[in-house]
Amino acid sequence: MTEQTMSVRVIDRSGWGTSAPYPAIRRVEISRCCPTCGGQRGEPRNHNFYEDGQHLSCDVWDNPCGHVDMHEAVLAEAKADQTKGECQHGRH
Ligand SMILES: [Zn+2]
Repeated sequence: MTEQTMSVRVIDRSGWGTSAPYPAIRRVEISRCCPTCGGQRGEPRNHNFYEDGQHLSCDVWDNPCGHVDMHEAVLAEAKADQTKGECQHGRH
């Protein structure tokens, strides 16, 4: 049985919480399925970057289907807790 969620670190630029560092890195649980087509997402890997005087790390992944997951959409997905069951292909 495969794990149907994955834990990723994404950049949160929404400014949740006024005292939070900006940009904030948040670890969230999301579905392993692409929300656009329902196919499997790619494996997350570490991505280091430098922004606003800080060295930050987040996760990036390339979906085999070619759809790009924007971090804003991933955060919205995590807040909505849309974890589904099996990934499906051809879902509209
Ligand atoms: Zn897709």
